[in-house]
Amino acid sequence: MFDIDQIRADFPLLSQQVNGKPLVYFDNGATSQKPKVVLDAIQKYYTEINANIHRGVHTLSQKATDAYENARNIVQKHINAKHNYEVIFTAGTTHGINAVANGFTKYLQKDDEILISALEHHSNIVPWQMLCERTGALLKVIPINENGELILSDFEKQISNKTKIVAVNHISNALGTINPIKYIIDKAHQFGAAVLIDGAQAVPHLKPDVQELDCDFYVFSGHKMCAPTGVGILYGKEEWLQKLPPYQGGGEMIATVTFNKTTYADLPHKFEAGTPNIEAGIALGTAIEYLNTIGFDAIASYEKDLLEYATTKLLEIEGLKIIGTAQQKASVLSFIIDAIHPYDIGTIIDKMGIAVRTGHHCTQPIMDFFNIPGTVRASFAFYNTKEEIDMLVVALKKAKMMLS
Ligand SMILES: *Cc1c(COP(=O)(O)O)cnc(C)c1O
Repeated sequence: MFDIDQIRADFPLLSQQVNGKPLVYFDNGATSQKPKVVLDAIQKYYTEINANIHRGVHTLSQKATDAYENARNIVQKHINAKHNYEVIFTAGTTHGINAVANGFTKYLQKDDEILISALEHHSNIVPWQMLCERTGALLKVIPINENGELILSDFEKQISNKTKIVAVNHISNALGTINPIKYIIDKAHQFGAAVLIDGAQAVPHLKPDVQELDCDFYVFSGHKMCAPTGVGILYGKEEWLQKLPPYQGGGEMIATVTFNKTTYADLPHKFEAGTPNIEAGIALGTAIEYLNTIGFDAIASYEKDLLEYATTKLLEIEGLKIIGTAQQKASVLSFIIDAIHPYDIGTIIDKMGIAVRTGHHCTQPIMDFFNIPGTVRASFAFYNTKEEIDMLVVALKKAKMMLS
């Protein structure tokens, strides 16, 4: 079933050389590569059905609208949303979180509390800080332990009837920690708080079930799950999406407009002002279908194998320390080697064809917690191999020799 050669052949970009060496792409946490079916979907859209959606009576416009709405239905089915109008197309995770944070402006009061975690990406921190500035609400943070796991006893102490929103990621992009979100969601609901899950780093590795999770919002980006950049999803429970005001005004999101008063369109269009990224939305549907033909169970077990192999191999390098050693982890390996700057390691192994991310990974508070400027991060996808991990190990040993 899981044929790695076949899978790699699906990704045209992977077969290239970089700096005269075969490419080893380990920066999947930043963005994933795209399979040919996704590239073909974009090409097909522009060569066969390009037209603006929801507007025209003409045939092409209807075809484009059908394809776009079909993608919405694919997403709905994939995340098990109750209704397709609970699936809002956005520009990505950042856009989705900002839409929700803005929508809450009129529902928060001074001294209300918003609870996030010390593991969050900047895009799940800053919009809430801005909301606090607008409303006088207070931002509270669930701390982490040395393994990079949330300290749940502290969460239980901090959550209260003052907590209006809890916003945490499903999987940490910097450390790979898989958070116990079901527990957090249930606990938050006992106190009447709404819960937003940042699923950006989860959707490439697992299939979320939003009804089972019972989260109020679940946001993610297409580009980390084999779809193009510039498209993402904001899932929201109907009751919340009805309640929150729209984030942006413009075309597509209105029912009637006069200079005295505008009434908003029904869901999902209320949150979809302006012409969207039509081809990317359609291609997101294609990407989800592609991932499902491989199967998330197969993806998870293959990636677990890669993570275990890489963890063992990397720890054989003297002076290498893994940052993020949670019990529940996705295929993300953040590490440092002695006191060598991550940037220097990244630059040298790039010369050997290996792409990793270096720096703070948009999670400066995590780096502060571990008292380091950043890490080298190798994040694996289902199209990576153990041979590539071996190449990383060789490259890291060389880099270490050159830099120490
Ligand atoms: C990538 C990422 C984001 C931001 O996603 P964008 O596509 O840049 O909007 C937010 N949270 C996490 C956990 C991420 O990995």
